[in-house]
Formats: sequence, C-alpha cells, structure tokens
Amino acid sequence: MKLVKLLANLGYGSRKQVAWMFREGRVTDAAGEVLYADDQVDHDDVRVDGEPLDPPQGLTLLLHKPAGYTCSTKDTGRLVYDLLPPRFRLRSPVLSTVGRLDRDTSGLLLFTDDGQLLHRIISPKAALPKVYEATLAEPLRGDETALFASGTLMLESETTPLKSATLEVVDATHARLTLTEGRYHQVRRMFAATGNHVVALHRSRVGGLALGDLPEGAWRILSADDIDVLM
Ligand code: URA
Repeated sequence: MKLVKLLANLGYGSRKQVAWMFREGRVTDAAGEVLYADDQVDHDDVRVDGEPLDPPQGLTLLLHKPAGYTCSTKDTGRLVYDLLPPRFRLRSPVLSTVGRLDRDTSGLLLFTDDGQLLHRIISPKAALPKVYEATLAEPLRGDETALFASGTLMLESETTPLKSATLEVVDATHARLTLTEGRYHQVRRMFAATGNHVVALHRSRVGGLALGDLPEGAWRILSADDIDVLM
C-alpha cells in the first residue's frame, strides 16, 4: 500500500493533509531518511515526526475516563474521544468504545477497532466480570449483599431478573460491586432498588485487566499480553 493511503487510513489526516506531511518532510524511515507519498515501505519502518506509527489494525486502548465525558462521537459536551489524539477518531476501521460508561462514571474504558474482540468482550456468553467502586448517599442497609447475589432482583421495566452479582462492603457508604452483565445504568439502578443513591461510580477492572495507576485522562495501547490478561 502506498504510504499516503496507509497514513490516511491510520487517521493522520485526509489524503490532502497527509500529502502535505510528506512535502514538509515529516515522514521518514527509521534512519531519518525522508519518505514520499508513493513509497511502499513496511509499516514498522515508518516514522511521523520521529514517532513510530500506530498499529495498522487491531488497535485496542485503555483510557482512564474522568467523570463528565460522554462515550459518544457526536454529543454536544465533552467526549471521551477528546482525550485521545485526533487521528484516533479518523481511523479506518473505526475505533469504537467497548460498551459504555455513563457520563458521570469514571474509570476503565476500552476502545478497539477489532470487531471480533469487541464482540468477545461484550458477549453475554463471555460474562466478563466488571468491578465498580460505588460511593453511596446513604449507609448500606445490610441486606444488599444477599439481595444482589440472589439472582432474583428485578429492575424496573425489565422482564428478566439480574444475574447474581458480588457486593463487597468497604464501609457504610462505599461498596465494590462485581457484575457479569451490563444493563443500562445497572449499578445505579441496583442501588436505587434498595432505596439508596450512587453519588460517585468508578470502574476499576474489566476481566483480568485493572486500571492500575494510570492517571485520570491518560490512555495506553494494550499489548497482546494485556488482551490475554483481559480475557
Ligand atoms: N452501571 C452504571 O449505572 N453506570 C455505568 O456507567 C456503568 C455501570
């Protein structure tokens, strides 16, 4: 593939913008030799402004989402994509979020351009555990752990009960909830069903992958080893 097409597909700009990058000498090989739009060079040997290219396909990212950002490409407010380099929004295939977090939820959010991986992660069959740290307006009643584990809790306007979920009480107003399904506003609605209100919600883990000490608003590309840990 000609370099101009490769870079445009990776979201570095439109064909026209990418053509300018070549004219400006910003595209080089690993040794710093300037490359040209029509060159056909191995992906790994290309540098833009001295930096290696993003992976061509199979790009999966982990973002520490701050509260206040929407998981959408075109909402009016602040978007999770605003926290990533602009080229990630222009890539083909598209880099989409793996499921969603509410605007007011912080924590571990994945993005991928790998449709198969996306389906493996969100498939109900995979039942990948997701861990949420909830801060509550009212002290816990004491029966929530048994109720959430029961597999009988029915949320308003749902037709099937929730699957059993694990609640660990941290203190009177803090709890860690592990879910293996993902219904709309599920954590907030589960606590609402007990007469409580979630004032802050943070996702700390998906499958085997933890957010760790990645700062809020920061992101990193996942390696093949990370994906193995995740699944
Ligand atoms: N449950 C919620 O209520 N909100 C989220 O963002 C995720 C799970």
